[in-house]
Amino acid sequence: MLDAVPKAVFSMLASSGALKRLASRYGMRRSDSFARRFIAGETIEEAIAAARAIEQAGLSVTLDHLGESVSSTEAADEATRSYLDVVSRIADAGISRNISIKLTQLGLDVDRATTVDNLRRILDAAGKVGFFVRIDMEGSAYTAQTLEIFETLWGIGYRNAGVVIQSYLRRSAADVGRMNALGARVRLVKGAYREPRQVAFQQKAEVDASFVELMQVLLGHGTHPAIATHDPAMIDATKQYASSRGIAKDTFEFQMLFGIRRDLQSQLAGEGYPFRVYVPFGREWFPYFMRRLGERPANVSFVVKSLVRERKRP
Ligand SMILES: Cc1cc2nc3c(=O)[nH]c(=O)nc-3n(C[C@H](O)[C@H](O)[C@H](O)COP(=O)(O)OP(=O)(O)OC[C@H]3O[C@@H](n4cnc5c(N)ncnc54)[C@H](O)[C@@H]3O)c2cc1C
Repeated sequence: MLDAVPKAVFSMLASSGALKRLASRYGMRRSDSFARRFIAGETIEEAIAAARAIEQAGLSVTLDHLGESVSSTEAADEATRSYLDVVSRIADAGISRNISIKLTQLGLDVDRATTVDNLRRILDAAGKVGFFVRIDMEGSAYTAQTLEIFETLWGIGYRNAGVVIQSYLRRSAADVGRMNALGARVRLVKGAYREPRQVAFQQKAEVDASFVELMQVLLGHGTHPAIATHDPAMIDATKQYASSRGIAKDTFEFQMLFGIRRDLQSQLAGEGYPFRVYVPFGREWFPYFMRRLGERPANVSFVVKSLVRERKRP
């Protein structure tokens, strides 16, 4: 029954201050609290420990210091400085030099020029120590700006960054063409936000068909694309397309989110496909967590059970 709850409900609940306070109080407080299923922890130390365990099992990681939609240049500057710290902590820890960031975390809702400056600060520091920086894609209000900022930086020589393209957006075939023409690295996802029908496909079958089409273009003409999905049908389509075209396994990678389909994650790595796990961490985990619930409303029952258990504990 819960599977019928639309994404819109989770999107609405994500803006509830009361729910956020309740979740924040209980979601992370113990090693088995419910938010830990999808979030590696609130500190960089916890994220590095989770990343080490993943890498010991033969998979790679990208770390996301959670945060989005900051509303002042001061907050954007603080987020940028904490990312600079994350870069140096990861470099010291010796785990994969790969991070994922969101432009609204760097100030895109406040001022575009500040956002570009903040992104450049991160790319400069990251570039010096051999990091790759993935610019996550947010809601469709940010798609054009995100790609334009990326292209501007690419144009002045930044090569240690890549973007994300969402198969649910009607514009994405053109955007994949644009990114392939540059030689830029694309992560392909289905898309996690609630979008109107004018801009996005609404039916799963359409989103999946678009995903397969874009995957084929990326495998055929892209630069080390990342196929990021937990959907076995999309994964099989990718494997089949690659093997039918003689596309080597090491020319692309699969990616999945921390805590989701761990069985499939190790299976694919065991089959010899390069594999990266997206490891989110930080105190601002609530919106990310709500998107994960919205993708699979059945997760709600596990959260409710854990909440009841948590509230009974001292
Ligand atoms: C590495 C990575 C990075 C991403 N980056 C972005 C980004 O920058 N921008 C963006 O909009 N989206 C991003 N996403 C999210 C993505 O857009 C989808 O919302 C998400 O991956 C669910 O879609 P799916 O491809 O797994 O397929 P679905 O059809 O949604 O799910 C397929 C199957 O996967 C499993 N599954 C999927 N989600 C969950 C879940 N939450 N809990 C438990 N099981 C689940 C279920 O078994 C489900 O049947 C990212 C996803 C990944 C894997």
